[in-house]
Parts: sequence; structure tokens; C-alpha cells
Amino acid sequence: AFRSDAVPQAPEDPLFGLMAAYRKDTSDKKVDLGIGAYRDDNAKPWILPVVKHADQKLHEDPNLNHEYLPIAGLAEFTNASQKVLLGVDSLAIKEQRVRSFQTISGTGAVHLGALFLAKFYRQGQEKAVYLSSPTWANHNQIFTNVQLPIKTYPYFSAKTKGLDFDGMIDAIDRAPDGSIIVLHACAHNPTGVDPTQEQWKQIAKTIHNKNHFPFFDCAYQGFASGDLARDAWAIRHFIQEGFEMCIAQSYAKNFGLYGERAGCFHFVTGPASDASETANRVASQLAILQRSEISNPPAYGARIASLVLNDDKLFAEWEANLRTMSGRIIDMRQKLKAALDKMGTPGTWDHITDQIGMFSFTGLTEKQVLRLREEFHVYMTKNGRISMAGLNSKNFEYFAKAVDQVVR
Ligand code: PLP
Repeated sequence: AFRSDAVPQAPEDPLFGLMAAYRKDTSDKKVDLGIGAYRDDNAKPWILPVVKHADQKLHEDPNLNHEYLPIAGLAEFTNASQKVLLGVDSLAIKEQRVRSFQTISGTGAVHLGALFLAKFYRQGQEKAVYLSSPTWANHNQIFTNVQLPIKTYPYFSAKTKGLDFDGMIDAIDRAPDGSIIVLHACAHNPTGVDPTQEQWKQIAKTIHNKNHFPFFDCAYQGFASGDLARDAWAIRHFIQEGFEMCIAQSYAKNFGLYGERAGCFHFVTGPASDASETANRVASQLAILQRSEISNPPAYGARIASLVLNDDKLFAEWEANLRTMSGRIIDMRQKLKAALDKMGTPGTWDHITDQIGMFSFTGLTEKQVLRLREEFHVYMTKNGRISMAGLNSKNFEYFAKAVDQVVR
């Protein structure tokens, strides 16, 4: 019989544990560089002005109700999501090769894709999923939970604090034909290191030669560079090259809709005369999985995003808001690097400005991270990752000085 007393204790989620420790700290100097959520220059959550405007508009709509959405979610939202991700002129959209499901943010999109692949992916002898080393910790759990075996490819070079490109290509090349390769579309979490466009072309070639299946996770479009097209470049390149693929799209960061769980899963079939029918069959199976998991997705966040994505004026305002967020983070990178350079802090700090997006992989050791927490009330994950959004004009010098002390 099932015995609840045989259930072992699971470890606490490290990130949420870190948040709790930060909240308990009573020092007025404390700095939160843990969770990946945007903060303004006063270290406060920022409601995007465009989201406020869309919210007002939403509440003025007399026809709004609390009925269920369809299983695949709000169609205006998923259609607009295809366009923002793949481009308005995308051939894949025109040829009706894309099927999209509204999901519980990016996490739900990764999960839906993982569940689908666990059920239907038949290529290769062992259906291994290759994740970058390191990657967003939840990737491991999500794919493991659906019983897909996990393997890794090298990604981060500790020496250069940049991309281990040769290691990555080599591992992808040596993976059994037809493996699933998970790729971060931009602003890689946790490292902040992205391939260049030339490197992406090479990666696409290698994946193509090996008949692998790409699975893009896109959690930071527009948030990384401030330019939606630029941050989607890798995905669009792979589509142009004719790949079939899964894409997980999150609106948590780029709309600041973290808790509303607005996201989208896309399946794109390769160019073939029956590609649209194939896509329909895929969608029919996705609908069953979605129905059994969540029945239908939550409405509010998708309604907000949909209003913005489908209105030229609001869309332009969103792009401006994206530039505000990405611009402040890029500015913080420059200020932090300049402060460290000025103090002559041992080591090189170019990687702070070379890296992009929410996070920076500082290269600080676990020991240094713990000292920063205990002596300086600075909270970051043990792997030396900092959330750049936690830095602002008032605390970056304090943080730089603390780093200077622990690395000397
Ligand atoms: N994928 C990556 C790489 C992420 O960094 C995140 C968020 O941190 C997500 C997916 C999903 O986030 P959410 O479920 O909040 O959209």
C-alpha cells in the first residue's frame, strides 16, 4: 500500500530559499541579486506603462467575462505571438506550418513540448535531450519529470567567461543522430553568454548534419538587446534553414507579467507539401495533452499581451518599454565594470559587459559568494550568477567594493 511516511524530504528550491534569506536580513545595505525579475532604479518591481494602458483598456471592455478560453488559448494572442517571434513575413506562418498553444508562461511551454516529445519522439535509439552546461535549473527537472534522459553539451568556458564554442559543437556533433538539442534563443540563463550570428550558423549546420531536433527556449525576447528581431535572430535563422522545431515563448520578463503566466508553445513543421496537415495532427495531440494537464490556460495575462501585440500604437510603446529595461541593464553592466576597473580589482571584468540579458556569470567562487552574503548582505546564487536588474545607481558601487574585497 502507499505509505506517505515513506516519502523522502526533497531539497528546497535554491532560488526561493535565497529569496527567503534575503527577506529575513534586516540590514539596510542588503542587495538582492538572486531572482531573475526586473527592478527599476529604486529596486522596485516595474509595471510596464504599456501594461497599465492595456489593463485600462481591458477594463473598459463591457463584453469581458470570466468564461473559459479555448484549449489552445486566446487565438488573437497565439497568432500575434507567432508573428512577434518568427517575424510578420515568416514563410513558416504563410505556409501554415506553425501550431501554437497558449501555456502557463515559458515553464508551461517547455513542459508541453517535453511531454509531447516524450510521447512521440521516435528518432534515434535513445531519446536523449541535450541541455547546455550549465542551464536554467528547471530544464533538468522538466525533462526528467517526463522521463526523457538528460545529457549535456559544454557551453560556458570558465577560462574566458565566454562561450565554449568548440566544446559545444563537438558535443552536438558526437551526440547520437536525431537527439533533441535544447537551445536558449537569447540571453542565456544563467551565463548571459550568447553565440554570435556566425556561431549560430555553425550550430545550425551541425544540428542539421546530425539530423538533430532543436528545441528553442525563448524567455527574454526584446529584453536582452531591446530589439525584438535581433533577439529572435537564431530562431528565425533555424526556420529559414528548414528545421522542424519546438519553441517555448515566455512573456514574463519582456512584459513584466511574471505572475500572470502568459506564454506560448509553438510547433513548426519543416517545409514539405504535406507540412500543414502534419502540423494539424501534431496540434490534435497537443490539444489532448493540454486538456489533460491544464484544460485551458489563464486569460488575464494573455489578454493584456494580446491587446498590445495587436495594436500598432501600444506595440510601439512596448518596444520603448523594452528599450528602457534593456538599456538600464546595459548601463549597469558598464557602470559595474568601470567601478571594478577603477579600483584595479584583480581579474578581468570584460565579461560583465560582453554578457547580455538579465544575468551575469561573474566567475566568483562559492566561497566568495558566501562571504558576500555573510559580510556584505549581498544575495546571489552559489554559482556566481548575479541578476543585473538587482543593481541600480544607488547600490552598484557598494556591490563593486564588496566584490573587490572578497576577490583580493
Ligand atoms: N526558460 C528560461 C531559460 C528562463 O530563464 C525562464 C525564467 O527564468 C523560463 C524559461 C520561464 O519562465 P516563466 O515560466 O516565468 O515564463
